[in-house]
Amino acid sequence: MRDFTAELEQRKQAGLYRTRRHISGPQQPVLTADGQWLLSFCSNDYLGLANHSSNIEALRDALPKTGLGGAASHLVCGHHEAHHLLEERLAAFTGRSSALFFSTGYMANLGVISALVGRGDTVFSDRLNHASIIDGCILSRAKVRRYGHGDVGSLAAMLAETSGHKLVVTDGVFSMDGDVAPLRELAAVCREHGALLVVDDAHGFGVLGPRGQGSVAELGLSEEDVPVLIGTLGKAAGTSGAFVAGPEVLMDYLVQKARTYIYTTAMPPALAFATLNSIDLIERGSERRSHLQSLIDRFRQDAIALGYSLMPSRTPIQPIMVGDNWAALALSQALEERGLLVTAIRPPTVPAGEARLRVTFSAAHSHEDLDILMQGLADCRHLLVGEGVAV
Ligand code: PMP
Repeated sequence: MRDFTAELEQRKQAGLYRTRRHISGPQQPVLTADGQWLLSFCSNDYLGLANHSSNIEALRDALPKTGLGGAASHLVCGHHEAHHLLEERLAAFTGRSSALFFSTGYMANLGVISALVGRGDTVFSDRLNHASIIDGCILSRAKVRRYGHGDVGSLAAMLAETSGHKLVVTDGVFSMDGDVAPLRELAAVCREHGALLVVDDAHGFGVLGPRGQGSVAELGLSEEDVPVLIGTLGKAAGTSGAFVAGPEVLMDYLVQKARTYIYTTAMPPALAFATLNSIDLIERGSERRSHLQSLIDRFRQDAIALGYSLMPSRTPIQPIMVGDNWAALALSQALEERGLLVTAIRPPTVPAGEARLRVTFSAAHSHEDLDILMQGLADCRHLLVGEGVAV
């Protein structure tokens, strides 16, 4: 039998062992992790809606009306009017003809990619796409071609030499680097080469765009430019689930074919009602978004002044590049000793040699919270000097 214990030990030796913390209490910037109060800079609750009183009220009000469990899959008897209303709201909000509600973003990516391409087709995937996209590509059994991160030129060359059905898939905002994909250019090459473009805007939805509709709306790209738009609801929307939006024929096709939609229990309908409330908060959230942007701008300026190496990101995902796995862990640990929770991200989540601290901001952070983070980073700056680490 495979020696699992030895493999775990190897992970530990390489600084790659993963652990979990036990959070108690609600998700807010100050949380209790393993009994310790920590100021967190690592959640994806970008607008601070996960603990918003009106979302909690919406859930509480909905529960007696809907009951708790989804009871069955959507196609059996689980498709509640709450899911339907949420789909209609998401379609209207994103400017799409229709939308389909999935239980998680991971399942949306697996289901969409594996339904839309198959054996004999080709799927083109950005080198830094999220794990769920990578897994969706593998599951589809299509030929997978990875293109360099954001490299539309090399993608165009690959598309030109490929025949048959082609699907291009990209994160809208990259989950570990925080940069935005060149969506306008991607849409243009996809149109030119007859490829179907899928954008997973898990981290742009709620944050970017005039009313928070995401990275695709920020550029004014229509359903014709980006026929398949995916968004998750567990991040900026602060609840749970995901959606796919696009032309009705595609949504209809997904209902027939997306196995992660068909063969799973529908999300508790009360959560869909709470999410409807959250979409209203997103739409009316321009103050939250501008406060968030002010935190991001100040962080970038101050962290660069301290000599930290950042990525070219204007989104709430602001990684501090470290390089070495152990150095990233040491920096994270030293911050934790100062009451700050900023997790180290290591391979295989990021490429080897690119371990980092993934700092994320939320509109629920105050500028005083940011002061505390910057003081911690100033105190710990020496840890990255003389380590042979790129700073
Ligand atoms: N896509 C991207 C780009 C993500 O970062 C994530 C989650 N980290 C997902 C999809 C998965 O979404 P969910 O958490 O709803 O499964």
